[in-house]
Amino acid sequence: MDCKEFEKKIPDFIEKKMDFLTLREFSAHIDECQNCKEELEIQFLVNEGMQRLEEGNAFDLKRELDQRIAEAKRKMHFHNSFLKVGMILELLAAAGIAAAVLWLLL
Ligand SMILES: [Zn+2]
Repeated sequence: MDCKEFEKKIPDFIEKKMDFLTLREFSAHIDECQNCKEELEIQFLVNEGMQRLEEGNAFDLKRELDQRIAEAKRKMHFHNSFLKVGMILELLAAAGIAAAVLWLLL
């Protein structure tokens, strides 16, 4: 699987539409390509964040399994991007506090 193919498959992975053989090629590419790994991580985190906001989503077993696979991969491979997302969230929080302080002062 090359990078173009990988990128096209990212939505399939996030939406749990990927069959096992593709998933295997997909994970193999994650292990050998840093750029695609980061791209997948960002898209997956954004998607998961939106799901958390919506709540009330019924989880079926297949989704749980896929999430466990994704969770394992994130723990092993996605640590750096998690740090990046954490930094962005901290910056947003800091901007929010600054805006609140300004609002109180004005
Ligand atoms: Zn790649």
